Amino acid sequence: MNLILVGPPGAGKGTQAEKLTEDFGLPYFATGNILRDAVADGTELGKKAKEYMDAGELVPDDVIIGVILDALKGEEASSGFLLDGFPRTVPQADALAEALEKLGRRLSGVLLIDVPDDEVVRRLSGRRVSKSGRVYHVDFDPPKHPDRCDIDGSALIQRDDDRPETIRKRLAVYHDQTEPLVDYYESRDLLRRFDGTRTPTDVHDHIRATVATLRLEDEL
Ligand code: ADP
Ligand code: ADP
Repeated sequence: MNLILVGPPGAGKGTQAEKLTEDFGLPYFATGNILRDAVADGTELGKKAKEYMDAGELVPDDVIIGVILDALKGEEASSGFLLDGFPRTVPQADALAEALEKLGRRLSGVLLIDVPDDEVVRRLSGRRVSKSGRVYHVDFDPPKHPDRCDIDGSALIQRDDDRPETIRKRLAVYHDQTEPLVDYYESRDLLRRFDGTRTPTDVHDHIRATVATLRLEDEL
C-alpha cells in the first residue's frame, strides 16, 4: 500500500501516522522529521533547509524532491509506504506520480485530515515533541510526567516553528501551496477526507477502517 497523509500543520498527521504504521506495518517517511534531523546533524540538506523552516516557508522543491524519491526507491519502501508532509506542492505531486509510474506502482489513497485554522493555532501552540519525534499536547495529549517522553523519558521540547507568528505563516503557506493538492487528488479519485476535529481515537478509527478497505481493493 502506498499512502499519503495531507492536511494543515497541526491536523494530527504525525499523531495518526504513529498508530497507522503499527496497524499496517508500513514504513513511514515524514519530510519534517527528515529535515529536522538533517538540521540537527548539520548535513548539506540541513544547511539548505534551515532558514526556510525557521521562517515557516517551504524548502524549495528541488531540495526536497530528490531526498524523498531516493527513499521511495530504496529497499525499505519496496512493499509500500506512508508519506507524511510530502507532497506539499503540485510540482512535488507530479514528481511523485512520475517516479511511481517508473517503478510500476501507484498510489493507494491520499488521506486528508482537515481542521480549521483556529484549531491549528491551539494545537501547535501546545505541541511538545521528543527527540525521536513522538508528539504530545500540553492539554489534549499530555505526557504522564510533565515535559518527559512516556516512551524514553527524554526531555520534551517546543519546536522553533511552533511560535505564533510562524504558525500563521505556515497556515498561509498551506492554503496557498498545499491545499491545491486536495483538488489534484480528488480529480484523480484518490482523496479520502477525515474530520480532524474529533478525538485522536475517533480519527484513528475512521482512517483505519478506510485504509483496511483500500487494502482489500488493492488485493482484488
Ligand atoms: P501534524 O503532524 O499534522 O502537524 P501533530 O500530529 O503533530 O500534527 O499534532 C499537532 C498537535 O495537536 C500535537 O500537540 C498533538 O498532540 C495534538 N493533536 C493531534 N491530534 C489531535 C486531536 N484529534 N485532538 C486534539 N489534539 C490533537
Ligand atoms: P507540520 O506537520 O507541523 O506542518 P512538518 O514537520 O511536516 O510540519 O514540516 C516542518 C517544515 O519542514 C515545514 O514548515 C517546511 O519548512 C519543511 N517541509 C516539510 N516537508 C516539506 C516539503 N514536502 N516541501 C517543502 N518543505 C517541507
